[in-house]
Amino acid sequence: MLVFAKIKSVQEKLKSLKKETSIGFVPTMGALHKGHLSLIEQAKKENDFVVVSIFINPTQFDKQEDLINYPKTIENDLDLLKSVSCDLVFIPTAEEIYANNITSSSFDFNGLEYQMEGKFRDGHFNGVGTIVKRLFEIVMPHNAYFGEKDFQQLQIIKNLVAQNQMPINIIGCPIFRENDGLAMSSRNERLTTAHRAAAPFIYKTLQKAKVEFGTKNADELKIWVENEFKNQPLLDLEYFEIADEDTLISIQDIKTSQKQRAFIAVFAGKIRLIDNISL
Ligand code: AMP
Repeated sequence: MLVFAKIKSVQEKLKSLKKETSIGFVPTMGALHKGHLSLIEQAKKENDFVVVSIFINPTQFDKQEDLINYPKTIENDLDLLKSVSCDLVFIPTAEEIYANNITSSSFDFNGLEYQMEGKFRDGHFNGVGTIVKRLFEIVMPHNAYFGEKDFQQLQIIKNLVAQNQMPINIIGCPIFRENDGLAMSSRNERLTTAHRAAAPFIYKTLQKAKVEFGTKNADELKIWVENEFKNQPLLDLEYFEIADEDTLISIQDIKTSQKQRAFIAVFAGKIRLIDNISL
């Protein structure tokens, strides 16, 4: 497994591959878990050569504290990447990516950026757009893999690629969960024991909401979910939305299509967790 910190080294290696080599790419922020590995395994199946990046992108954090406390487990990450036969790991510094200008560009994602996460995390998707575009320009993969765990991000990346006419297939991968249903996340590491024990309630509520979304309309369901969380002293609901998968615009009414999804963000103490479910 090759491990590079410099853009030039990555590009030289990729240039040296045979022309017909298909390149799969999985961008991450490290602190890898089985959710990340499921993306890499899918990329391995579908490509000749797989590149994984590990970069904690400063411009996508709306809270400095979250950036500083983001888990860093590089040695373990490299072991895990070897175990799934990753071909190349790119671990740049912030200077390598941004030079002396750690700022994000401003994007127009056709309104996708104003919904849900966009309302609560100021500048987040400009940061995501900036780093993913930069990484795509460096790696120029044929296929890039993103988790449905961050469903809004997945839709925004599809939009980014279409707008910039980048010849990259964006592939969404299913959410990988702990046995108790909690969506795997690097942030789960930072939960206290009590908050970790409370957190599976998030997915349980999404599953119940899915069942209820035949008899209740979206507005009624929102109120029902809000009430459910009032009985959970360790969990603080930030939002629950039902939205169209393509536009991410909220739905007020009853179920009308197969392409509707429920989205949730919850604080478990200081740790913010997100999840979603197809309805
Ligand atoms: P992150 O390191 O959190 O930026 O995540 C890197 C990629 O892994 C993103 O495309 C995430 O959506 C994806 N990912 C994170 N957690 C999961 C999960 N539990 N299941 C599937 N994909 C995930």
